[in-house]
Amino acid sequence: MSTSNYYRAPGMPQDESLDHIVTATALDGHVRAIGIRATATVAKALEIHNTSPVATAAFGRFITGSLLVADNMKGENDTQTSVIKCDGPIKGMTCVCDSFGNCRAYVTNPIVENSGDGKGLDIASCVGNGILTIIRDIGLKEPYVGSVELISGAIAEDFTYYMAKSEQTPSVIALGVGLDSSGVTNAGGIMVQMLPGATPEDIDYIEKRANGGFPDVSYLLSEGLSPAQIVDMFLGDPEIKFLSSKEIAYKCNCSQDKMLRVLSTLGSDDLDELASTKEGIEIKCHFCAKKYEFTSDQVLSIGRSKEK
Ligand SMILES: [Zn+2]
Repeated sequence: MSTSNYYRAPGMPQDESLDHIVTATALDGHVRAIGIRATATVAKALEIHNTSPVATAAFGRFITGSLLVADNMKGENDTQTSVIKCDGPIKGMTCVCDSFGNCRAYVTNPIVENSGDGKGLDIASCVGNGILTIIRDIGLKEPYVGSVELISGAIAEDFTYYMAKSEQTPSVIALGVGLDSSGVTNAGGIMVQMLPGATPEDIDYIEKRANGGFPDVSYLLSEGLSPAQIVDMFLGDPEIKFLSSKEIAYKCNCSQDKMLRVLSTLGSDDLDELASTKEGIEIKCHFCAKKYEFTSDQVLSIGRSKEK
């Protein structure tokens, strides 16, 4: 068996250098681990939102964490929206994930000065205190909504706390974003969860792995390790089984039609005012910055159709 076959999982992109997520089980099926590389995804977020370095570090971790916790969605119309509202200078972040590995994200204030001591990026100060809310719409009558206070602002700990508190799933989550003067050099993470049937020995084993100085995910990615190799390294179980994988991408689903629907939620007075500019209006999608133009006649006709 070749090394690369060993790490192949159903759904993994042919080109393994593409961003992807991989799920594995180990310890007789008592533990589940998910690894992700989201380098191009976070680089795309930086390109769209022009985030400063510390904002990129926070936003990149937030996007990567959102993708990790979204991984159990299966239905083709399932969506997960994660939102951080906080009192730090970044103010807020939103990430929408679907079940195909696509995400789109938004940051309230992309330009945050690093308040660190120069030795590193101070993500916790950039985020501050606040709330992490996750809204999962999997086609049930009501979406599932879970919310926790941020316990650190450093993102990985906050997602870990969310999983324990809101989804009663004890998890180990690590996230990392590597940056240099040219931008994002790597981004990724790992989430390890105990499954029903886990023994005290299993829990002890995973806790020891987590606390035993497991290297920074960003460092492992910079060394060229794939998500599957990082998961394998963390679990240290030769009986590991790679179950599934999928490509990850930053992909917005906006369209002229969707923007039209947004416009039609405005009141007639607002629409009249918008229509008063002869050149028409331009709406920018706040997830991908794509611009949509509407003539003043189009805006007027939305207003008229509402009055009917
Ligand atoms: Zn868009």
